[in-house]
Amino acid sequence: MCREPSNVAAGGHACPLRFRCLGCEHFSTDVSCLPDLRAHLADLLRSRERLMSAFEAEEWARTRAMPSQEEISRVHRLIDRVCSDLDQVPVEDCAQIEQAVTLVRRSRTVHLDIPRVGRPLPDVRPPRTH
Ligand code: SF4
Repeated sequence: MCREPSNVAAGGHACPLRFRCLGCEHFSTDVSCLPDLRAHLADLLRSRERLMSAFEAEEWARTRAMPSQEEISRVHRLIDRVCSDLDQVPVEDCAQIEQAVTLVRRSRTVHLDIPRVGRPLPDVRPPRTH
């Protein structure tokens, strides 16, 4: 989730940090994104392996494409934090969380590099009567 005002206003197309979300103070995530965080981590590790092998590229391009250890560690920490929070949840609440996550995930597509932005809230103020 991105909360950077200018990017939100532009519908997610004006990221000033070129989608380096994991190092951005405007990025947030939650338990519903746990599968995506795990998939992203696996993807980073795969990319790193591929780039370290005999992949042909100029050095500057390889360096820019290489996932940094900071990024990998950051995803690890996020996953650990979400899992440790989940461990603290009473067993009776786990089923409810699972249900909520299933519901949320059914209605959304997550791209970690380009997070969704919050939709503007509808104006639900009741009309004035006086
Ligand atoms: S898209 Fe990602 S990196 Fe860009 S402002 Fe939003 S959270 Fe930060």
